Amino acid sequence: MHVGIVGGGISGLTLQHYLAQQGVESTVFEAGAEPGGVIRSRQIGGQTVENGPQRTRLSPPVASLVESLGIGDRVVEAADAPLYVYHDGALRQVPFSLREGLSTDLLSLRGKLRLLMEPLTGPPRGEETVEESLTRMVGPEVAQYVIGPLYGGIYGTHPDEMLMEHSLGRALEKYGVDRSLLVAAVRARLRDSEAPPVVSFDGGLQTLPQALAEQHRETVRLETPVETVRESEDRFELETPSGTTVVDQVVLTTPADVTATLLEDLAPATAVPLRRLSYNPLAIVHLAADPEIEASGFQVQYEEAFSTLGVTCNATLFDRDRLHTAFLGGAKNPELVDQSLSAIREITEREFDELTGAEATVLDVRRLERGMPAYDTSWTALEGVEPPAGIHLCANYESRAGIPGRVGQAKRLAERLSDAAAVDG
Ligand SMILES: Cc1cc2nc3c(=O)[nH]c(=O)nc-3n(C[C@H](O)[C@H](O)[C@H](O)COP(=O)(O)OP(=O)(O)OC[C@H]3O[C@@H](n4cnc5c(N)ncnc54)[C@H](O)[C@@H]3O)c2cc1C
Repeated sequence: MHVGIVGGGISGLTLQHYLAQQGVESTVFEAGAEPGGVIRSRQIGGQTVENGPQRTRLSPPVASLVESLGIGDRVVEAADAPLYVYHDGALRQVPFSLREGLSTDLLSLRGKLRLLMEPLTGPPRGEETVEESLTRMVGPEVAQYVIGPLYGGIYGTHPDEMLMEHSLGRALEKYGVDRSLLVAAVRARLRDSEAPPVVSFDGGLQTLPQALAEQHRETVRLETPVETVRESEDRFELETPSGTTVVDQVVLTTPADVTATLLEDLAPATAVPLRRLSYNPLAIVHLAADPEIEASGFQVQYEEAFSTLGVTCNATLFDRDRLHTAFLGGAKNPELVDQSLSAIREITEREFDELTGAEATVLDVRRLERGMPAYDTSWTALEGVEPPAGIHLCANYESRAGIPGRVGQAKRLAERLSDAAAVDG
């Protein structure tokens, strides 16, 4: 069996790695000139900046991938520092334990007491929005000032635009939270189960896809976009500007709109809903600053009048000299991303000062027109997505978006494809 993998981001490259371990041949076709997709590390003034994800958890699937690539010595662990939410005129520390929950100034006494009632409120419901579910379960304050900003902030989407069954509900299911968030948190504490460490790599996160592409360099074709996928006598032809390759199975790891275009003729009924999935545009702005708080980062509560969604404090996390990375735009202010670079600079510096009290100097601005999948109500369209036999999706819009989730899904798909190859063989 030969598998054609479209896209050389972390999903496609990890899939190829695990297929190779199972003895299944594959070719990765990547449109861009370098591997990694949205994982994009750059050097500015001798220091690493990330134009996509800022860090990952070294969860078991990522740890085993790192080990199998022999790049364990390049892992850099993040410092442990508090997270903040900007609410009501100040940055306030996010509580991660019951003790912190009782003392935090993010919540009133009433909000804290309401949180304690959560085990009596019933489990999350798929048909609710994230905001409705959280408000019913943990009360309006924890919903709006703690979990809402932290969860919605990751995607740049307001929690009242996100449906549980297509977003937070899936994550809770994965962690076995079938009834109560509080009970699950207490159980985890009693089991003493620590979250895997937050990490990056020497040279940045792109070290990981680069190591994958290097190990499989004979079968990774950069600057080779797939333009058409055609069926041909139980096999598939992948057409690229440099020729056509015939494969037995196809895996599409591309963003939803590209996948829709590639499936237009072969599976029009699947292409239509894929086009409906919305992505949030983002401006990613690297700044040099010395805020007084020692934080891993902060999110800005959605109702606050800022275009800044959140900031990762890379200076604290990875000891990168004064470096802070701000994310602006999202569903809250998508037009911001179309403004001139100098306007984005000016807004970011002004807002950073207002949010932290510290002066900032912008080092670099990047725009991502189709940044993060929004996981908003447009995700109901996913129910109409059914790729034809022999074509598989392995993408961040139809499964978990984080790097650990991508690695896990690619590994599981490699196992399925190799089982199918064994049956065929
Ligand atoms: C701004 C941002 C911040 C994030 N922050 C974090 C974080 O802190 N931690 C975390 O764990 N996760 C984070 N994520 C999520 C995670 O980084 C992504 O979900 C993941 O990297 C996506 O990998 P992928 O391989 O599925 O897709 P992609 O990286 O999108 O890869 C798809 C590839 O397909 C290629 N392609 C497109 N069209 C074609 C074609 N026609 N032919 C061939 N190739 C094609 C593209 O060039 C691209 O390389 C973040 C994502 C974004 C966007």
